[in-house]
Amino acid sequence: MEVAGFEKRDYAEKLIADAVSSGRFPHAVLIEGGSPERRTDIARRISASLLCGGETVPCGSCPACKKALGGYHPDVLFHTPEVISKKPVYSVDQIREIRDDTYIIPMEAEIKITVLSESQYMNRAAQNAFLKVLEEPPEFAVFILLAQTKSVFLPTILSRVTVYTLSGDAEREEDGVTAQEAESAAQDIARALLSDSAFELVKAAGVFDKNAPLLEAALPEMAGIFMNALKVRYSGGEGGELEKKLSSALSRRALLALIESVDTLTGEIKMNANLNLTVTRLCTLFKSAAD
Ligand SMILES: [Zn+2]
Repeated sequence: MEVAGFEKRDYAEKLIADAVSSGRFPHAVLIEGGSPERRTDIARRISASLLCGGETVPCGSCPACKKALGGYHPDVLFHTPEVISKKPVYSVDQIREIRDDTYIIPMEAEIKITVLSESQYMNRAAQNAFLKVLEEPPEFAVFILLAQTKSVFLPTILSRVTVYTLSGDAEREEDGVTAQEAESAAQDIARALLSDSAFELVKAAGVFDKNAPLLEAALPEMAGIFMNALKVRYSGGEGGELEKKLSSALSRRALLALIESVDTLTGEIKMNANLNLTVTRLCTLFKSAAD
């Protein structure tokens, strides 16, 4: 099946288009990043693509496409948070209603698509209520969660959805991470390893709290620093001041253990592990590697 209408230069959109064309689109996805408008637009395009009967989807002209793109397909349910005390929130009651809705068989199509816009407004209780339907969804159900960031979700939710991270527009740039920030965070971690006090490491790792993109960007930088320190130690290679200090303070074995820890943590981040736990694990792993 051909898929059109996705911005293939954006890696996330390319992955989404690939998933649609494979005919095995995941039953639950979370689309994070980008602007709210862009997330909504992508959810509409996915819905139309999944419902369209054309050879190239979404064809844009069949009844299913028109309804899905126009926002009035009876089997595409768009939900937005309620406003309680002037704040947007998905209440547990609202989630329960949505849950009950998703079990009702589709009216026209073979699938029923439930979209939760701004799903970052689900608190813990609401997420737990939603988890029930994610765990035992009806066969025809497709869930599309749209959120500013995945970092607010329980690991139990994240383990059941495929996450697509949009990039490359204004909102993303605002909370984006520069190479300098990543480098300096990685250097602070490396410097903390030179200290006798475990607290220095915890302090340096504090910068990653609620900032998964920074951690994700800083991990390869850390690996680079440890690798260079290893080279200095191993072959007397040229290294910066920090790398030279590390190479004399830490054994070859410790440096290898640190590089391995970076691999472990990178894997966890990619698996959408709970950020707080990953930051704590970073401190534990690094401390035991350097000791
Ligand atoms: Zn169509």
